[in-house]
Amino acid sequence: MPPQLTIKEPVTLEGVNVFNGKSNKITFLPAGDDEGISFSARGHKVKATLENAIGESRRRIHCLSLCDPPPKNKTGNVVVRKIEHPLSVCYALGIDNLSIELSDGVVPRFDYGVSGMVEALGPLRVEGNAKKRYWRMNDWVAKLDTLCWNLERTDYVQAFKSDHAIVHFEVRREHKAVGEQKLSVPLIEDDYRREVMHARTPSFMSLGSRLYFGCTGYWYGMTDKNTLLIGCKSAVNYLNRSSEHYGKDEFVRHKIVDAIGAIALAGRQFNNVGFDFLLTGHAFNVHAMKKFFKDNLFCDAELPPQPCPYQDIDWNAEKPASS
Ligand SMILES: [Zn+2]
Repeated sequence: MPPQLTIKEPVTLEGVNVFNGKSNKITFLPAGDDEGISFSARGHKVKATLENAIGESRRRIHCLSLCDPPPKNKTGNVVVRKIEHPLSVCYALGIDNLSIELSDGVVPRFDYGVSGMVEALGPLRVEGNAKKRYWRMNDWVAKLDTLCWNLERTDYVQAFKSDHAIVHFEVRREHKAVGEQKLSVPLIEDDYRREVMHARTPSFMSLGSRLYFGCTGYWYGMTDKNTLLIGCKSAVNYLNRSSEHYGKDEFVRHKIVDAIGAIALAGRQFNNVGFDFLLTGHAFNVHAMKKFFKDNLFCDAELPPQPCPYQDIDWNAEKPASS
């Protein structure tokens, strides 16, 4: 087993708080073996665990947040918001232990997705003394147990046995600029860097708000570089496609970054598990991960995940039967 990773020195990045448009800061600090990832703001510290997490929607912005004490009935005392991106980056870089301080309790938004955090943290990684631990799927798990539908049976998350850790995401939107998109990305650093880390956070803009923004600049610090703008349903292209890094499927690429943020709440990387997401958002991703652990799908693993060539994947073979 390889050793756990943290970073060798603190690093601070500045971005924008999209709830108020003001600039804010995130500081990453080293943490000791087995401490895991924690966030702090205003002198209050909370561990990034599934137990403490909820999905929130505030002012048309959806995010993962951490509560202390743990939330009950999907509400709680929120300490930090928008934690999905740094968690996603830590998972991709294999960083096990990290203390993250937020200047105002909200993770900043940066230009071109999470690429700035990946570039800042990647070179600072340093080994601890304790060995890494991984999750794998229990051998007895039946295929039926691995599928978590929403109540309406329109969205699901499925965890499935796979030779390689991988995430598949499928979206369908009435907005023509998005339409149907699906993508599979192995849960491996190289693939994360190449396939998803530059994807910007999407934001849906009605025609009225677009006219408003045209006069006043973007809403709450959103810019062409930090937000993928989607206009009315009939608009064929993204409103700011000229500044895109990826092509048409930038939307689903960002959904994969967010999904990995929810997976990271498990506290370890997965070895032989793939995750399949259909149409889900933050709140349901957390709900599904909680359910998988409650159902005892996973157990300790010693082997790290193996690299996965794309051509090995037959998605039709993995699809659950439709309801
Ligand atoms: Zn996101």
